[in-house]
Amino acid sequence: MSSSSPDERTLVLIKPDAVRRGLVGEIISRFERKGLRIDAMVSRTMDAALADEHYAEHVDKAFYPPLKTFMTGGPLVALVLSGDQVIDVVRGLIGATDGRKAAAGTIRGDLSLSNRENLVHASDSADSAKREIALWFPELS
Ligand code: ADP
Ligand code: MG
Repeated sequence: MSSSSPDERTLVLIKPDAVRRGLVGEIISRFERKGLRIDAMVSRTMDAALADEHYAEHVDKAFYPPLKTFMTGGPLVALVLSGDQVIDVVRGLIGATDGRKAAAGTIRGDLSLSNRENLVHASDSADSAKREIALWFPELS
């Protein structure tokens, strides 16, 4: 097909557990081998204010305080990935939220045994991708 809508973008965080465990290369490699492009990438430690904004939909949930402690507890790697249907493609590659239940072959399914320390965040919709990219990489918006 010759139609050429611009490729989508999504926001990915390689979480502090992945950095601590030395899995950054493994995870980025899976995205690269899939054929996705890295449009931006930075190593950064989330502060409390950014955590509350990034996880605005979860701040009132019981799991949020320990999630915030975890996510602000060490450096992470933030990326913007692009490619055809990249939002859904990346959600497929990372797998279900709970690493104990995520399918084998997915990043979480292969590498995580936790419902919290599940290695990767990825935007779940076009709206959240837009919001999260603006939050982490305002220069791209
Ligand atoms: P996802 O990251 O798959 O989009 P959610 O948006 O539902 O999942 O939750 C955000 C993050 O909060 C999860 O990736 C995980 O780190 C954590 N989390 C979600 N649910 C739980 C839970 N029941 N117990 C502990 N941590 C949770
Ligand atoms: Mg989510």
